[in-house]
Amino acid sequence: MVDGLRVVVVGAGFSGLAAALALTRAGAQVRVLEARDRVGGRVLTRWLPELTQVDLGAQWIGPTQDRMYALVAEHGLATFASAAVGAPTPGTWIAYGPHLRSPVGRVHWAGTETATHWAGYLEGAVRAGERAAAEVLVG
Ligand SMILES: Cc1cc2nc3c(=O)[nH]c(=O)nc-3n(C[C@H](O)[C@H](O)[C@H](O)COP(=O)(O)OP(=O)(O)OC[C@H]3O[C@@H](n4cnc5c(N)ncnc54)[C@H](O)[C@@H]3O)c2cc1C
Repeated sequence: MVDGLRVVVVGAGFSGLAAALALTRAGAQVRVLEARDRVGGRVLTRWLPELTQVDLGAQWIGPTQDRMYALVAEHGLATFASAAVGAPTPGTWIAYGPHLRSPVGRVHWAGTETATHWAGYLEGAVRAGERAAAEVLVG
């Protein structure tokens, strides 16, 4: 547990929220600043009048995305199987990762593009947020 640590998290996407959750659980005082009028970032669900759900952003998770499956379970959500066709080329963002995630002074970078695994995906967003939170806690 940390005492008196105050942290500002910029952005309420999955990465920022994961960082905020990890820091809050560690005892830090956390404020999340979000530019938009909603949380979720690149996750956005719209409901049509007849209650059809349309995901305009992220929606799929898959094998080895353990942090996302853990969050689904923790929040009592359900998953269902769907086709897996067409995936971005692995490693596209990871090549830049070390530069993207190096802290600048007391500013630490989260966001899926800074993840070491599953960069570009929700799993990467959550892992990156938790990694940034751990950096903050180490000091
Ligand atoms: C159409 C689409 C489909 C996708 N499908 C999938 C999928 O099926 N499965 C999957 O795993 N991933 C998918 N992804 C990728 C996934 O959405 C992202 O990897 C993940 O949501 C990124 O989370 P993040 O927190 O890193 O960034 P973001 O979600 O982009 O969150 C960043 C937040 O920071 C806020 N912000 C930015 N700058 C500031 C500022 N200066 N001040 C305050 N707030 C600020 C933004 O408004 C935003 O809310 C998809 C993405 C898109 C666009």
